[in-house]
Amino acid sequence: MNIKELQDRLQRFTDERDWDQFHTPKNLVMALSGEVGELTEIFQWLTEEESKAIVGDVEKMKHVEEELADIQVYVLRLAHKLEVDIESAVEKKMRKNAEKYPVHLAKGNAKKYTEY
Ligand SMILES: [Mg+2]
Repeated sequence: MNIKELQDRLQRFTDERDWDQFHTPKNLVMALSGEVGELTEIFQWLTEEESKAIVGDVEKMKHVEEELADIQVYVLRLAHKLEVDIESAVEKKMRKNAEKYPVHLAKGNAKKYTEY
Protein backbone atom coordinates (compact mmCIF):
# COMPACT_ATOMS: atom_id res chain seq x y z
CA MET A 1 0.00 0.00 0.00
CA ASN A 2 1.44 3.38 -0.95
CA ILE A 3 1.30 6.60 1.05
CA LYS A 4 -1.68 8.09 -0.81
CA GLU A 5 -3.67 4.87 -0.36
CA LEU A 6 -2.85 4.83 3.36
CA GLN A 7 -3.91 8.46 3.73
CA ASP A 8 -7.17 7.80 1.86
CA ARG A 9 -7.85 4.79 4.07
CA LEU A 10 -7.17 6.83 7.21
CA GLN A 11 -9.50 9.56 5.91
CA ARG A 12 -12.27 7.00 5.38
CA PHE A 13 -11.69 5.57 8.87
CA THR A 14 -11.91 9.10 10.29
CA ASP A 15 -14.98 10.11 8.25
CA GLU A 16 -16.88 6.95 9.19
CA ARG A 17 -16.50 7.92 12.85
CA ASP A 18 -17.08 11.64 12.32
CA TRP A 19 -13.67 12.30 13.82
CA ASP A 20 -12.39 14.70 11.21
CA GLN A 21 -13.72 17.55 13.34
CA PHE A 22 -11.13 16.58 15.98
CA HIS A 23 -8.23 16.23 13.55
CA THR A 24 -7.05 19.82 13.62
CA PRO A 25 -3.32 20.36 13.07
CA LYS A 26 -2.94 21.29 16.75
CA ASN A 27 -4.67 18.12 17.94
CA LEU A 28 -2.75 15.92 15.51
CA VAL A 29 0.58 17.38 16.61
CA MET A 30 -0.36 16.76 20.23
CA ALA A 31 -1.50 13.21 19.46
CA LEU A 32 1.76 12.58 17.58
CA SER A 33 3.77 13.89 20.49
CA GLY A 34 1.82 11.60 22.86
CA GLU A 35 2.58 8.57 20.72
CA VAL A 36 6.29 9.46 20.57
CA GLY A 37 6.10 9.63 24.37
CA GLU A 38 4.61 6.13 24.46
CA LEU A 39 7.49 4.83 22.33
CA THR A 40 9.98 6.68 24.51
CA GLU A 41 8.49 5.07 27.62
CA ILE A 42 9.36 1.60 26.29
CA PHE A 43 13.04 2.54 26.05
CA GLN A 44 13.47 4.78 29.06
CA TRP A 45 15.80 3.40 31.71
CA LEU A 46 17.15 0.69 29.39
CA THR A 47 20.90 0.52 28.97
CA GLU A 48 22.34 0.88 25.47
CA GLU A 49 22.76 -2.90 25.32
CA GLU A 50 19.22 -3.58 26.57
CA SER A 51 17.82 -1.19 23.95
CA LYS A 52 19.64 -3.11 21.20
CA ALA A 53 18.51 -6.47 22.60
CA ILE A 54 14.83 -5.46 22.50
CA VAL A 55 14.52 -6.96 19.00
CA GLY A 56 14.73 -10.39 20.63
CA ASP A 57 11.82 -9.72 22.98
CA VAL A 58 8.62 -10.67 21.16
CA GLU A 59 6.24 -8.95 23.59
CA LYS A 60 8.20 -5.70 23.76
CA MET A 61 8.63 -5.66 19.99
CA LYS A 62 4.87 -6.03 19.57
CA HIS A 63 4.49 -2.91 21.68
CA VAL A 64 7.25 -1.06 19.76
CA GLU A 65 5.57 -1.97 16.48
CA GLU A 66 2.22 -0.63 17.67
CA GLU A 67 3.69 2.67 18.82
CA LEU A 68 5.63 3.09 15.56
CA ALA A 69 2.38 2.50 13.69
CA ASP A 70 0.56 5.07 15.87
CA ILE A 71 3.31 7.59 15.14
CA GLN A 72 3.18 6.88 11.41
CA VAL A 73 -0.61 7.24 11.36
CA TYR A 74 -0.45 10.68 12.94
CA VAL A 75 2.41 11.80 10.68
CA LEU A 76 0.34 10.75 7.66
CA ARG A 77 -2.82 12.43 9.01
CA LEU A 78 -0.97 15.65 9.82
CA ALA A 79 0.71 15.79 6.41
CA HIS A 80 -2.66 15.15 4.75
CA LYS A 81 -4.47 17.86 6.72
CA LEU A 82 -1.66 20.38 6.06
CA GLU A 83 -1.52 19.38 2.37
CA VAL A 84 2.14 18.40 2.67
CA ASP A 85 3.28 15.86 0.08
CA ILE A 86 5.17 13.78 2.62
CA GLU A 87 6.93 11.65 0.00
CA SER A 88 8.28 14.75 -1.71
CA ALA A 89 9.11 16.40 1.64
CA VAL A 90 11.17 13.37 2.72
CA GLU A 91 12.94 13.31 -0.65
CA LYS A 92 13.82 17.02 -0.35
CA LYS A 93 15.01 16.60 3.23
CA MET A 94 17.21 13.63 2.32
CA ARG A 95 18.85 15.67 -0.45
CA LYS A 96 19.40 18.56 1.99
CA ASN A 97 20.90 16.19 4.59
CA ALA A 98 23.23 14.70 1.99
CA GLU A 99 24.54 18.20 1.27
CA LYS A 100 24.87 19.07 4.96
CA TYR A 101 26.53 15.76 5.77
CA PRO A 102 28.88 14.86 2.92
CA VAL A 103 30.30 11.37 3.35
CA HIS A 104 33.92 12.55 3.43
CA LEU A 105 33.15 14.76 6.48
CA ALA A 106 30.41 12.83 8.24
CA LYS A 107 31.45 9.21 7.91
CA GLY A 108 31.84 7.52 11.28
CA ASN A 109 31.13 10.56 13.44
CA ALA A 110 27.98 11.97 14.99
CA LYS A 111 28.96 15.65 14.95
CA LYS A 112 26.37 18.18 13.84
CA TYR A 113 27.16 19.77 10.47
CA THR A 114 27.86 23.08 12.22
CA GLU A 115 30.77 21.45 14.03
CA TYR A 116 32.88 20.83 10.91
MG1 LIG B 1 0.10 4.33 21.18
